[in-house]
Amino acid sequence: MAVSQERLFGTNGVRFIPGVSHDLSFVIKLSEAIGTYFDEGEVLVGQDGRVSSPALANAAASGLMSSGRDIAEAGVVPTPALQFAIRDEGYKGGVMVTASHNPPQYNGLKVVAHDGVEVPRLDEQRIEKIFFDGSQSKADWKTVGVARPDPSVIRRYLGGIVSKVNRKMIAERKFTVVMDLGNGAQCAAAPALVESLGCKLITLNSVLDGNFPGRGPEPTPDALGDLSAAVNSISADLGVAFDGDGDRAMFCDETGRMLWGDQSGSLLADYLLERNPNGTVVTPVSSTQAIEKVAKRRGAKVVRTKVGSVDVSRMILERNALLGFEENGGFIYSPHISVRDGGMTAALMLECLAAKGMAFSKALAFSVPRFHQAKTKVQVDRKKIPALISAVEKQAKGEVERTDGVKVWTDEHSWVLVRPSGTEPIVRIFAESESQEKAELLVKKYVRAAKVASS
Ligand code: MG
Repeated sequence: MAVSQERLFGTNGVRFIPGVSHDLSFVIKLSEAIGTYFDEGEVLVGQDGRVSSPALANAAASGLMSSGRDIAEAGVVPTPALQFAIRDEGYKGGVMVTASHNPPQYNGLKVVAHDGVEVPRLDEQRIEKIFFDGSQSKADWKTVGVARPDPSVIRRYLGGIVSKVNRKMIAERKFTVVMDLGNGAQCAAAPALVESLGCKLITLNSVLDGNFPGRGPEPTPDALGDLSAAVNSISADLGVAFDGDGDRAMFCDETGRMLWGDQSGSLLADYLLERNPNGTVVTPVSSTQAIEKVAKRRGAKVVRTKVGSVDVSRMILERNALLGFEENGGFIYSPHISVRDGGMTAALMLECLAAKGMAFSKALAFSVPRFHQAKTKVQVDRKKIPALISAVEKQAKGEVERTDGVKVWTDEHSWVLVRPSGTEPIVRIFAESESQEKAELLVKKYVRAAKVASS
């Protein structure tokens, strides 16, 4: 199959600013291409809580029906709830209207396959080809698709999560949980989940609002000061925050200290691998080496992928892996579904803390070796990126990995990753080492090397 020249899909679906970079007729035309790609069967359509989501979801529904697909409408749901319903209820596939953690003006479409995972990269290109060729199927008045509501998506999703954890063990601990919903799509699901697990719940930013007036849709540790303060002031057991469409979860411990997804992911991996020895963990090249130490202790294997949740999900299916995670708070537990799920992640963390029977900070210190990371980005002329990457590779004295960009091990516990962005003229530089100082020195050294190589 010919690879299309022009791209619509980025790392996580198609993203744009409605009415600025594309209008609703684009969404209809793209959804006709998606409907043509699915070819048969019923497609589930869901949306996050953005201001433009109802308009885009209607346009997506129209385009799918115009290509002859029947559709079911889930309404406002977290992305993982839609993905779970697609697999669980046997839909042919799905379309989620969302821009995840992007600012409020953005929106977009994620295309989900029948297994609940975003369609493979090559299939994104098949959809693009149909779009650019104009070879969309056009139904007539007899074959045009029809719509029905599917009001059971969230109920089934919550049932699916609760069935995968030990509810009794969690409830016995009577945890106090502070949850920052960030006005995002988990407002519709996660509070009911945590309450059904017998926890006392305090919520922040719990009203669905497409302007994200609380703390914005991106749950970085810097944006979650209110969560930390609330956990600390009421002596809660933990805090959890979700991104705009609810597939990522970030945690803070009982002292209010925010954790990166690397740390929470490694802690959950340690807990789950203890119960499932010889399991496989999938994670991108950019995440912590702590996971190799944890996996070794549990007799497990780690598989590294390119950066991007779709690559992690698809590798989990290929290797029949138990779990996967990303440093941004994405965590995948494949016995539930092989996609990131903030709700499942929160439930697993409650079970992990209940089983370990110690405070969150202690459980982390006890289970996950501590490493320090530093990261930055450097503007680089796109044409010079290949030369820059090979210069870094040539200068390397230690072990080199080429899974995504170039990762160089400078000593037993220190690495640097130099990785071009897929969408912008920049390279990202990550480093990890035993101390913060050493990680920052490594980043500085490679920023200089990148500037020299690209000048
Ligand atoms: Mg997201």
